[in-house]
Amino acid sequence: NSKDIKILLLENVNQSGRNILTGQGYQVEALKTSLPEDQLIEKIKDVQVIGIRSKTKLTEKVLREAKNLLVIGCFCIGTNQVDLEYAAKHGIAVFNSPFANSRSVAELVIGEIISLARQLGDRSNEMHQGTWNKVSAKCWEIRGKTLGIVGYGHIGSQLSVLAEAMGMTVIYYDVVTLMGLGTARQVPTLEALLTEADFVTLHVPELPETKNMISTAQLEKMKEGSYLINASRGTVVDIQALINAMRSGKIAGAALDVYPNEPSANGDYFNRQLNQWGEDLRSVKNIILTPHIGGSTEEAQRAIGVEVSDALVRYINQGVTLGSVNLPEVNLRSLTLDEPNYARVIYVHHNVPGVLRKVNEIFGNHNVDKQISDSRGDVAYLMADVSDVNLGDMKELFDALEALSSKIMVRVLY
Ligand code: NAD
Repeated sequence: NSKDIKILLLENVNQSGRNILTGQGYQVEALKTSLPEDQLIEKIKDVQVIGIRSKTKLTEKVLREAKNLLVIGCFCIGTNQVDLEYAAKHGIAVFNSPFANSRSVAELVIGEIISLARQLGDRSNEMHQGTWNKVSAKCWEIRGKTLGIVGYGHIGSQLSVLAEAMGMTVIYYDVVTLMGLGTARQVPTLEALLTEADFVTLHVPELPETKNMISTAQLEKMKEGSYLINASRGTVVDIQALINAMRSGKIAGAALDVYPNEPSANGDYFNRQLNQWGEDLRSVKNIILTPHIGGSTEEAQRAIGVEVSDALVRYINQGVTLGSVNLPEVNLRSLTLDEPNYARVIYVHHNVPGVLRKVNEIFGNHNVDKQISDSRGDVAYLMADVSDVNLGDMKELFDALEALSSKIMVRVLY
């Protein structure tokens, strides 16, 4: 019953998300901040659902006390603050919102392309210092220029459409073969992209293969007077190599939104971090430095609220794990819970031999309409829709599955 679902939302989760959850009739308690560990442990004992952002640490110590917890919603991109493995082993699904801010990042990059081509950052800084410096040398329109997108995923492909609309030619490089949007064209190698593009923008994930993907050798391949934009992850660009390439004039401008060792709170960065390149970076001309704000918009926050809350509702009401970061992704369509005698059985279990035989023995003579099962590491997730059960049968099925040694969690939805 939805009224029995208790949800604790911390860290001022966006109203858009709260509305979806209260709209379902769940009991929602929303707090503006995170909680100290002892208070968090006290509160988490009671709830089936917790929604957090990046500050709340759901460690094993905390999760051990969360005896009723079904699911965790991270209303943000990252999930490092949650012990994902412990959660999976206890059948607790974790959801986040990796793509709700793609558009915001793409728009920021569009703004930066024009700003770099026109040296807007420098002109604005000079005016702030009181200096009138009207120049047109080495300032350009972006129409007709070539944008090279490295990583044609959610952000890269969105950017592709926007850039073409402004008259740019778009090429892209990706490890996967992908259909180009509009007239965008995939090139076979990073090198091919670097030698052809006037603007290079990076939209790859943080991986061992993308570490220092742009360093001295790659910068040398780029066109004389070209531009580099990184709003992906701080590890992707070798910053010292970029500074050198900008000082030599090879790279005419750059925009960085992400850095190695980003601080967790606002305030001093370059001075406190003592990055070797901090001072140099700040002294280079025509470089836009922003503090990881690519996805920081009101719209993205709202979209995150909606995306995560929708995932929570699907999981609570239907057991669907699509988008989960720690459980196998399992879905069965056309759940008909409002029909009499219909139930969906969820069995989360240790991934050991022989489980399916035992489960199907328990289903016995019932009519299993649909069934699906998938595993991820040590944990497996089985979903079965049964169409001829009364309340007594459901209780029997539940108890029989509960008694299996492979059990992590059983739910019967009806
Ligand atoms: P995505 O997963 O949708 O797309 C990434 C693309 O990169 C995929 O098409 C993938 O095939 C490709 N790729 C992977 N490895 C590659 C390699 N070695 N060479 C070439 N292509 C490779 O990701 P996304 O949502 O578009 O995000 C892209 C990046 O932007 C990520 O690093 C993400 O963390 C970052 N991001 C930054 C901000 C910000 O605020 N600045 C906000 C959101 C995302």
